[in-house]
Amino acid sequence: SLAAMVSPFRNYLNDLYEKYQPLNEGKVADYIPELALAKPEWFGICVVTKDEQIFEVGNCDQLFTIQSISKPFVFGLALADYGREYVNSKVSVEPTGEAFNAIVLDEVTNRPYNPMVNAGAIATADLIKGQNSTERLKRLLEMFKGYTGRDHDINVPVFLSEKATGNRNRAMAYLMLNFGMVSDKIDETLDLYFQQCSILVNAKDLAMISATLSNGGINPITKQRAVDEHYVQDIISVMLTCGMYDASGEWAYRVGIPAKSGVGGGILAVVPGKLGIGIFSPPLDAKGNSIRGVKVCEDLSRDFGLHLFNVA
Ligand code: GLN
Repeated sequence: SLAAMVSPFRNYLNDLYEKYQPLNEGKVADYIPELALAKPEWFGICVVTKDEQIFEVGNCDQLFTIQSISKPFVFGLALADYGREYVNSKVSVEPTGEAFNAIVLDEVTNRPYNPMVNAGAIATADLIKGQNSTERLKRLLEMFKGYTGRDHDINVPVFLSEKATGNRNRAMAYLMLNFGMVSDKIDETLDLYFQQCSILVNAKDLAMISATLSNGGINPITKQRAVDEHYVQDIISVMLTCGMYDASGEWAYRVGIPAKSGVGGGILAVVPGKLGIGIFSPPLDAKGNSIRGVKVCEDLSRDFGLHLFNVA
């Protein structure tokens, strides 16, 4: 529409894209060859508002693997399957200050620290109900469809490579099995975890997912409920405290928008009650967060006063 073409916010996003497209810092994830195929110049920003507006600039249709951004939503499904008390007995919600793949459990309870680090995400995946591995994966994919409004595929080469090289994650799973924190279906659970990391999404999907959270669990475009309203606050709060790996504290302080990043180069950020942001740009900083993605969120937070605790 004409209104959309002259939208000041659309112009703002175009300027933001132009501002950060030349920023050639960081490194594309290369722990498996498939991820190293990502082009460093790929850059997309999408914003979906509660009142059904969609703003897109750059490579918003380019597919990439969701990776760690899957974790809060699998946590949401575990909550739906088992409720807060049981899930919290298996996974804490405490930030670690350590890297996402740290092999560390709470010394007193043997729980992994939170559902956003790999150990916690594996323990969370273990909780996903289903008669067999196919059914469990289908439930995950169905859940993501609820958030984005479209069907999702798995990038099979990424899944197989994650599985082939995932010995660190395997070690964590066995450590948790040793402490009785996960079931003995280790291979099935790890497959599910590697599959959830390999789900293909684009920046627009990420914005839809975050807009759905910001809208209380109902996708503002499709009007479909993706997650019980009850658990939206659980998902958003662990994103705020643990979503940006060991940069989460600084993120909460500087940006103040609950967010989750993944090594595929995605970031989704939720402004509760207002809008969802999805960004894709593969080059990562030392902690594993998309460099352009972080910059875009910093600018949006500052320029629109989106920090959660902004009372000015
Ligand atoms: N799939 C990878 C792993 O489990 C990376 C997850 C992430 O995005 N940090 O190590």
